[in-house]
Amino acid sequence: EQLINQIAAGEVIERPASVVKELVENAIDAGATRIEVELDGGGVKLVRIRDDGGGIAPDELPLALTRHATSKIGSLEDLESVQSMGFRGEALPSIASVSQFRIISRRRDDAHASMIEADNGRLSDVRPAQHPPGTTVEMRELFFNVPARRKFLKTERTELSHIEDQLRAMALARPEVGLHLKHAGRDLLRLSRAESIAERVDALLGESFLEQSLSIEHHVAGLSLHGFVGLPTAARSSADRQYFFVNRRLVKDRVIAHAVKQAYADVLFHGRYPTFVLFLDLDPTAVDVNVHPAKAEVRFREQRMVHDFLFRSLHEALAQTRA
Ligand code: ADP
Ligand code: MG
Repeated sequence: EQLINQIAAGEVIERPASVVKELVENAIDAGATRIEVELDGGGVKLVRIRDDGGGIAPDELPLALTRHATSKIGSLEDLESVQSMGFRGEALPSIASVSQFRIISRRRDDAHASMIEADNGRLSDVRPAQHPPGTTVEMRELFFNVPARRKFLKTERTELSHIEDQLRAMALARPEVGLHLKHAGRDLLRLSRAESIAERVDALLGESFLEQSLSIEHHVAGLSLHGFVGLPTAARSSADRQYFFVNRRLVKDRVIAHAVKQAYADVLFHGRYPTFVLFLDLDPTAVDVNVHPAKAEVRFREQRMVHDFLFRSLHEALAQTRA
């Protein structure tokens, strides 16, 4: 079992940023309105994530660390139309198998919190603990028991910047969630709950981003695209400001990239690849977001239709800016 978990960890957990992604997704799935991320050593030494979500029942703590014991899927039909961020029940057991791991959790009506620990994949008993309603998940010394993988981690600074990228993207997709990031005791990001995507974009990418961009909103049967695209006059055009979300997940996809690039190339920009924050929403059964546990790939049922919708929506919007 420990070995299977470690092998799965190889798939899901590449580096500290993948740990942060999985844990923050869980907090979001649990309905958190505030998430605190505390790191040390680029997230290799410590990732501690505290949320104010629904919490975990004491007797479910061991289950949360057991493979494929997700609480989020009731049936095969659910699997088809999964809305929550994670559903494999793979992340926690994987992370726990390659780190020193601890969960402390309390549901709103519980008299006290409960804690479980995992060391080298071995689970402790569930013990009473102190914690406000919500959950804290703590991971220390990633890959301490898999030296070959630990060796491949990059410098503290590099690992930290992967985490920051990851969190910025998640923060854009979840403006309604407050987010606080600390590294080695130092504040790196403090986002209060926002009312709108625009407000969050403003807080994250700076006021000038909105001033120099065009707001987009397009709908056709079952497909919706909204967000912001940088104007051709925008001062900056950098790869770190290209965000595309499908059903609120950050995605890197060839079909999408092609449609976006074509639309821009057609209208303006002369080869310059612009900045954007775009959200495509569609029926969850029309897209497979779980092609690979950790990769940001998607597979659309109707590739052509999605491509053409994106191209046309962007093309139309951009053409206006020329007029
Ligand atoms: P998945 O998210 O795919 O269900 P995970 O391994 O990420 O699997 O998590 C296992 C289970 O632990 C979840 O299904 C959920 O019930 C519980 N869980 C994990 N993190 C939290 C959290 N922050 N708040 C509440 N429940 C959580
Ligand atoms: Mg999960």
